[in-house]
Amino acid sequence: MSDPGYEDRLQAWVGRELLTLRPGQDPVNVPMIRHWVEAMEDENPVYLDEDAARATGRDGIVAPASMLQAWTMRGYAASVSPDAGRTGSDELTDLLAEGGYTSVVATDSEFEFHRELVPGDHVGVEETLEAISPEKKTALGPGRFISTVRTYRDASGEVVATQRWRMLRFRPAEKPEPKALRPRPAINHDNEFWFAAAREHRLVIQRCADCKSLRHPPGPCCPQCGSFGWDTVESAGEGHVYTYVVNHHPRHPAFDYPLVVAVIELAEGTRLIANMTGVEPADVEIGMPVVLDWIDPDPDLSLPVFRPAAAAEES
Ligand SMILES: [Zn+2]
Repeated sequence: MSDPGYEDRLQAWVGRELLTLRPGQDPVNVPMIRHWVEAMEDENPVYLDEDAARATGRDGIVAPASMLQAWTMRGYAASVSPDAGRTGSDELTDLLAEGGYTSVVATDSEFEFHRELVPGDHVGVEETLEAISPEKKTALGPGRFISTVRTYRDASGEVVATQRWRMLRFRPAEKPEPKALRPRPAINHDNEFWFAAAREHRLVIQRCADCKSLRHPPGPCCPQCGSFGWDTVESAGEGHVYTYVVNHHPRHPAFDYPLVVAVIELAEGTRLIANMTGVEPADVEIGMPVVLDWIDPDPDLSLPVFRPAAAAEES
């Protein structure tokens, strides 16, 4: 923290009031209870059926305990009204933002209920700040745990419930933009064996089962003899640059530029198109001996690339 007084200014809030006691907009009432239990699919009859509630020893229906906060919520319109005024909570939020703690996540909430609420109760809440932790490292980013106590009171001031509320105010960790995925090759029935082998980092070449000639790219039929029978051989991964281009434009976000796109002639005789690695684009030459390497651009795609054979020997 560049401001040495920041910690003191923050800790000065401990014990201070964040929200001043103020009655909720409406008293506890049956229509709101009905909406709540329908939304929550809570079929306990003590919330809507007077007789069922009396059968449990109560004087009549009661509000669900979990509705407590609903009775004190002011709604969006009231919270942004010019009359709303700034609360201590707003000031603390600003002070935390000044320290960079601009993000928030609730961590836990503990309720203690002193009595059940019944229609006609008019509940208000006040909140005080209990503690602010030193800065902690969290998975979300460096932050401070803030603990507050909310005290819920009825119209006579009697405490009906308390709530200890903890949240993490944090500086969001900077995440690098995920790199775009490479455009996927069109994988079909004729070439899927080649990509399946590539996922195992094996560079295979299709071979005619009859005349034994090698071919690439894969295809269903031998261009030499017309046979549909084939198997594969595995390339030793050595060859040379037959020709190449250096791509500057157009750019795709998955690639680093300038991008060498080379036609590699393998020692086995077939050619394939691949990128080059481990070499400055200006240093690529036709005839340059190369060896096979692999990249795994995404979990389902591995592709052969080639690096200069000399560089491979040095590394
Ligand atoms: Zn053939």
